[in-house]
Amino acid sequence: MNEKLKIAVQKSGRLSEKSLELLKECGIKLPGGNGKLKTEAKNFPVEVLFLRDDDIPQYVEQGVADVGILGENEVWEKKKNVSTVEKLGFAGCRMSLAIPKDEEYTGLSFFNGKKVATSYPSILSDFFAKNGIRVEIEEIGGSVEIAPGIGLADAIFDIVSTGSTLLMNGLKEVEVIVESEAVLIANSKLGEEKKSILDRLVFRIKSVLRASENKYITLNAPLSAVPEITALLPGMKSPTIVPLAEEGWCGIHSVVREDEFWDIIDRMKKLGAEGILVIPIEKMIL
Ligand code: ATP
Ligand code: MG
Repeated sequence: MNEKLKIAVQKSGRLSEKSLELLKECGIKLPGGNGKLKTEAKNFPVEVLFLRDDDIPQYVEQGVADVGILGENEVWEKKKNVSTVEKLGFAGCRMSLAIPKDEEYTGLSFFNGKKVATSYPSILSDFFAKNGIRVEIEEIGGSVEIAPGIGLADAIFDIVSTGSTLLMNGLKEVEVIVESEAVLIANSKLGEEKKSILDRLVFRIKSVLRASENKYITLNAPLSAVPEITALLPGMKSPTIVPLAEEGWCGIHSVVREDEFWDIIDRMKKLGAEGILVIPIEKMIL
């Protein structure tokens, strides 16, 4: 039938560029052209729809789009019947409660009887209900951080990444409720053909994400240090060891996780490793 998987991405905003970049890294070529509602890939059976992020959960539930890329925060807020397929590792942020900076914070009970402004009423009311705290929630569409200053609310619940917006508005962050990042969601009743396209897409996404978390390293080491150096290296199987022209030495190639990387390099240098090269990995297929 030659079906295409319809992917919803944010039309313009913080997620747009990264979402398209991820698809590109997955080898999906999309024709350029701004302001379009949709576009089709030439080399992979997908069609990309450009939508407001708030609308993506609903469209995916209804099947207008088959899958979507958006912040987990919108998925939680909208409570639509969709499944979260994969965390995508970008657009990380936290959702926090903030109060005017001169108020003394006494713990969650501070909020009892208070009015809290937010664009995420559903996440917030679930949170307070779970904690047995009674608050009045004032739903506003945007610029939530100005609400206390204009006398609309006593506190706010909003997305925070650096905290500078809060500071500028005389607020302080007092509770982090949840952490969010971009995710891939899917309609829960995809047909076989679309499911198999989604599987291929997820396979590619995983390879791209894994690659960005790892580095390829090569180094030279005295043969006597090989057992200790290889013990430091996880690699995909075991490290590759190649002979060098200079006697008593070998080259070692391996893959190291970005977060363990500096620690491993320090220890290898102490064991006599030299000429260490670190190379980014484009794709990592397991
Ligand atoms: P739209 O017009 O599509 O509704 P929007 O204004 O709701 O866009 P953006 O501000 O572009 O949305 O943010 C999109 C998503 O980016 C958020 O839902 C959140 O998941 C994530 N995000 C990451 N950091 C931040 C931040 N500092 N402020 C707001 N959103 C952030
Ligand atoms: Mg939005």
